[in-house]
Amino acid sequence: MRIVIQKFGGTSVASPENRERAVQKIIHSIMNGFKTVVVVSAMGRRGEPYATDTLLELLQQVHMDVHPREKDMVLSLGETLSSAIMANTLRSKGYDSVAVTGWQAGIITDRNYGNANILEVKTEYLTDVLKQGKIPIVAGFQGITETGEITTLGRGGSDTTAAILGEALNAESIEIYTDVDGIMTADPRIVSNASPIRQISYSEIFQIADQGAKVIHPRAVEIASRSDIPLLIKNIMNDSPGTIVTARSIKKQPVRSSNTDRIITSITYVTGRTQITIDTSQGIEEQNDILLRLADNHISIDIINIFPDKMIFTIEGNLTDKALAVMKENNYKCKVIEKCSKISAVGERMRGVPGVMSRIINALTAGKIEVLQTSDSHMTISCLIKEEDTIPAVLALHEEFKLYMHE
Ligand code: ADP
Ligand code: MG
Repeated sequence: MRIVIQKFGGTSVASPENRERAVQKIIHSIMNGFKTVVVVSAMGRRGEPYATDTLLELLQQVHMDVHPREKDMVLSLGETLSSAIMANTLRSKGYDSVAVTGWQAGIITDRNYGNANILEVKTEYLTDVLKQGKIPIVAGFQGITETGEITTLGRGGSDTTAAILGEALNAESIEIYTDVDGIMTADPRIVSNASPIRQISYSEIFQIADQGAKVIHPRAVEIASRSDIPLLIKNIMNDSPGTIVTARSIKKQPVRSSNTDRIITSITYVTGRTQITIDTSQGIEEQNDILLRLADNHISIDIINIFPDKMIFTIEGNLTDKALAVMKENNYKCKVIEKCSKISAVGERMRGVPGVMSRIINALTAGKIEVLQTSDSHMTISCLIKEEDTIPAVLALHEEFKLYMHE
């Protein structure tokens, strides 16, 4: 059986017009001889009637303190509804189709409500549906514990569902349909001349996703990569080729002339970070102690720079109060800058190329953007800046590396 996974994101299932487009994509792969397993997100985005946030607000109107178990039950509803609607749409066109929940699809998770980890996938149900010649429409983002509690898979959960089913069913490819022309050189909502990236490796897209581009979730990339299934990211609105993600490095690909000196592939950002500077003049033991205490309190730190007499690190903004409480408890003096953004330049080819950091710093300072901290790994350079500088910073780096000339 040649299987393809087709995942349709929020906007792709939100309107009858887009659902019609989704149906055309499904029929197209069936015509090409594939069995297709469809995965759907909830319909629409924040503020829209059936979006997941809207459903949660309904529950919070009763009481803000919702038990995680019940919260996950409600969070999962949007996708359930969406799968039934898509199945009905297909059936109305004469295609035999069944809505399948995450639990029917056999996605077994741990009990980590809100961000559950998949332990195994029992594929019998889906295989059966496929053998009967029906099109399964799986509700993304959902799982179930071994003891029967409904769980959700966290941010980008439908991407994860698509990837894990691709792996479990040995699919030939995983197609992710969204509202942009694939992975772009920057978030197209910020950079109007951002261009689509035609081909990219798993490791590069993992970094791009991990550093904030929400077009695909890093966990989904990780799963596709370990089972070496090509990922295709495409626009539901048109027939543009989209982005293909495979293990092959871009260096081995025939590249067009404008592409050959591509050092940076994409500029990404995350907002809502906090920078904390701690005076640690008593040295290494004090520094170790702070790191241990943060870890004990499940506060993960991001960019970190350690000096003989001080330590600077960033954390997620919503953990600021918790981190400060830990510091206060232990009499550590600290300086805090809230509302920061981390902006990153990602590119496999920057490895060993001198001067990239200096180009980044120059471009930012030329735009009068203050750099609060930096970090540098083999394919990512990140700078911490003030949140208000996010848009000019993304634009400045996109210009500096001429990413609008990508193709
Ligand atoms: P879906 O509901 O289809 O999963 P998402 O909202 O999760 O869609 O992801 C698509 C969005 O990701 C786009 O609308 C775009 O604004 C954003 N995005 C951020 N960075 C990038 C990037 N580098 N390339 C493409 N899209 C990006
Ligand atoms: Mg998404």
